[in-house]
Amino acid sequence: AETVRLFSSSQVITSVVSVVKELIENSLDASATTIDIRLENYGFDKIEVRDNGNGIKVADVPVMAIKHYTSKISSSEDLERLTTYGFRGEALGSICCISEVLVTTRTADDDISTQYVLDSSGHVTSQKPSHLGQGTTVTVLKLFKNLPVRKQFYSTNRKCKEELKKVHDLLIAYGIIKPELRITFVHNKAVIWQKNRVSDHKMACMSVLGTAVMGSMVPFQHCCEDPEINLSGFLPKAESDSSLTSLSSSERSFIFVNSRPVHQKEILKYYSVLMQKDSTRLYPVFFLNITVPASAVDVNVTPDKTEVLLQYKESVLLAVENVLKSLYGPLPA
Ligand code: ADP
Ligand code: MG
Repeated sequence: AETVRLFSSSQVITSVVSVVKELIENSLDASATTIDIRLENYGFDKIEVRDNGNGIKVADVPVMAIKHYTSKISSSEDLERLTTYGFRGEALGSICCISEVLVTTRTADDDISTQYVLDSSGHVTSQKPSHLGQGTTVTVLKLFKNLPVRKQFYSTNRKCKEELKKVHDLLIAYGIIKPELRITFVHNKAVIWQKNRVSDHKMACMSVLGTAVMGSMVPFQHCCEDPEINLSGFLPKAESDSSLTSLSSSERSFIFVNSRPVHQKEILKYYSVLMQKDSTRLYPVFFLNITVPASAVDVNVTPDKTEVLLQYKESVLLAVENVLKSLYGPLPA
């Protein structure tokens, strides 16, 4: 049974970035407005995510990291109208299985915070009072301590740097989709990135992409024939200065489905095929926020929930095409 647990955990938690993603989503589900992420040794010695969210009720503590416990859904209908990031009750338990986990938490009703030590099966082994404010801090030590091959895989300098960049990119994505969220990202005591609370997506994009790039973008809003599908975001202006492309050092395209950052390869491909036909139009910066009914999104496809299957994929792709046409005129055949 232990081996099975280890195996399934290592499928849910494949890397430092997947730990960070799960912990951040838990913080967002708990209505946090400030999240601090601290890594030591690229996250392999320590990953700490601190939030100012609702905290975990004393009664929920014994079960929070027990596999398949979730406080977020109670029926299969809930699954059809999913509004939280988490719903499987798998992350915390999986993380416990492959590292050492401490959870410090305090709700609005608690006088002080309490730090809990969890064992590999997610049970609390000890607890002590601590001094933190309202919210939850999850500390993950010695990631992959019992998965030497996985650890070895990430042991090169290049791999570590790649992982750090993935964490950074993920945080940027949440920073854009959650303008009101404050984020601080620290690695080995050095602040890598910071984002303040801002009022809207435009300001959030500006703080990430810079004023120059954002100044060459236009907002769009597109309602489809299907009134339940909505596209909005920012695209480069038709006449934008192509030299601006160089301002964005890497490809900066952000796609969200119902506020989840996704790798929607088809949309990306579609966009670049349409834009590449005319080289002056190639401009790899955009922000696309797709909203569809929660029941149309199957986030259950892959363990890390990034490959979202859209029931209305065709309609969404058509909508993307229409938006591009309306901005850039007829697209080359
Ligand atoms: P899920 O997110 O699918 O519910 P997790 O394993 O990620 O499952 O978390 C288990 C439970 O622990 C959550 O349902 C929630 O009740 C609690 N929890 C975890 N992290 C936090 C947090 N940062 N703030 C408040 N509650 C949390
Ligand atoms: Mg979760």
